[in-house]
Amino acid sequence: MKLETLKKLTPSSPDLTGKKSKVNNALSTEDVLMKLSFCKLTSQELDFVVGKYLDNNECLSNFYQLLVINIYKDKEFDEGDKDLVCNLVKCCIIECTVIKCVFCSGRGFYKNKDGIEKCTHCNDGDFIYDDNVRANLLNLNKKKYKTIKSKYEKILEMIQNIELEALEKIGDVY
Ligand SMILES: [Zn+2]
Repeated sequence: MKLETLKKLTPSSPDLTGKKSKVNNALSTEDVLMKLSFCKLTSQELDFVVGKYLDNNECLSNFYQLLVINIYKDKEFDEGDKDLVCNLVKCCIIECTVIKCVFCSGRGFYKNKDGIEKCTHCNDGDFIYDDNVRANLLNLNKKKYKTIKSKYEKILEMIQNIELEALEKIGDVY
């Protein structure tokens, strides 16, 4: 519901109903940023939301850098783990922002000569990030991934909470 609110604000949102309003189409990124500025988002939340929903790489890059600094400051990780923190944060951001399955282009099924086959990489088009996928993204073998899995999940949860908080603020306003 709240995600829908945000999608309505964004000009680049994919439209599946075929009923895209011309008014929303005409919104510029500046319009959206202006609307978002009324939602009292923190700069971190704003970076994430604009980065994800308006495909703004600069904002995502800001978000990434600040998150790495914050996590490192919190002393959750040992000194010298900086590379690991960077990699974990990068992969978690991918998991939180790249939702559509790349194998079936987000359709959830393939067409082959025998008809339609369900895509095994996703849930109705939403890509499934399982341990294998995460280990691959991190360039780690499964054994090594297991040793850092709890850290990965902790960072993932941090980002998901930032997004939830932001969407809630946006939902409260619109
Ligand atoms: Zn798929």
